[in-house]
Amino acid sequence: MSTPQQLPFTQAQDDAIYQAIRGEEERQSEGLELIPSENYVSAAVREAGGSVFTNKYSEGYPGKRYYGGQQFTDQIEQIAIDRACELFDCKYANVQPLSGAPMNVAAYFAMLEPGDTVLGMDLSHGGHLTHGHPVTHIAKIFNFIRYKMADPDTGAIDYDHLREMALEHKPKLILAGFSAYSRELDYKKFVDIAKEVGALTMMDAAHIAGLIAGKAAKNPFDYGFDIMTTTTHKSLRGPRGGMILVREDEELAKKVNKAVFPGLQGGPHMHLVAAKAIAFNEALRPEFKDYAEQVIKNAKAMAEVFRSHNIRMIGGGTDNHLILADVYGSLGVTGQEAEDVLDEVAMTLNKNMIADDPRKPMDPSGIRFGTPAITTRGFKEEECRQVAEWMVETLKNKDDKTVCERIREDIRSLCQKFPIPDQFFE
Ligand SMILES: *Cc1c(COP(=O)(O)O)cnc(C)c1O
Repeated sequence: MSTPQQLPFTQAQDDAIYQAIRGEEERQSEGLELIPSENYVSAAVREAGGSVFTNKYSEGYPGKRYYGGQQFTDQIEQIAIDRACELFDCKYANVQPLSGAPMNVAAYFAMLEPGDTVLGMDLSHGGHLTHGHPVTHIAKIFNFIRYKMADPDTGAIDYDHLREMALEHKPKLILAGFSAYSRELDYKKFVDIAKEVGALTMMDAAHIAGLIAGKAAKNPFDYGFDIMTTTTHKSLRGPRGGMILVREDEELAKKVNKAVFPGLQGGPHMHLVAAKAIAFNEALRPEFKDYAEQVIKNAKAMAEVFRSHNIRMIGGGTDNHLILADVYGSLGVTGQEAEDVLDEVAMTLNKNMIADDPRKPMDPSGIRFGTPAITTRGFKEEECRQVAEWMVETLKNKDDKTVCERIREDIRSLCQKFPIPDQFFE
């Protein structure tokens, strides 16, 4: 496994927490992490995240703070901003959002007035909770309407329908982005439709930011998107957190800053801003391009295996890091059963609704899995095909203890061959 963290003070002072951290280290190291929104950060990112910056209050922005003692916080935040702009080829970045959900709330308030309409991707077709799910607070403030895939078996968005909805509802904002969608979007179509109805365009790149940064996926800014939000802890391989990027509009960038602080948040988490800066620097390295490309190659290799077993995939396969498989429709195993039995053999992933799912959210038809974490571990196509074969074998033999135990052992030895790295290059 990655070098165990030095924890002498925790060990001496708080045994319960010490044991839990050690347990989690072991769990991460001996099992396969297939949740597509998870990854392993470098030891340097962990160090900065555990640094003395956690002690510091720094409400405001570099050069304009409400507290003294900011010579070093100003440095790290400016470095993080500059690196983020270089990475995503844009002019402005706010690196303070505490996480993905507040980042999107701040972005909406930077662009919208209460009651304004947002056209976003249907949640059951891959969109995210923070894109206006009725259970969220923001769904009470803005009016969210939805577009869908034309055909869940190919994954293509129905852009004609999107345009019709935009013409009918006159949204102020057209939202792209997803957490359970496996195909590349046609960003130009979004921008053209937005121009036609006078809307702004926002990409929530939380899932694929690492692929965009690594130039393995298209950059929405190249097609004229106004704003991009992203978490930093998924494929981008940084600490938990969010950020908001603005392509070129200075007024919009100012509104974003105000919307993050004082609009929504108080003091930024400067230890995590420092860790973000380190992660961005890692992502600027040429090696990160190889990583991003490999993430996609690995996902495609897993999709091939699922296809060879005639397991239906929403979108028919993948262009990115994730796969959404209809295990109930194809194998008669529910999403919850699949999640449970795969967890038992140390393959961690999540159950997921599929488009027009006949089942319920707590036990849906699908599972969602992806390759960012196992690629960080060093897996190539060969290992990924093997993992996919084990997944299918486990699902087909879910009640056979002998098969499951053998697979659990094979996974343990594969994990030992591919320890989680502390750093990704010399
Ligand atoms: C993960 C995710 C978020 C929310 O991120 P949190 O850090 O969990 O709050 C927002 N949008 C999308 C598309 C995501 O995938």
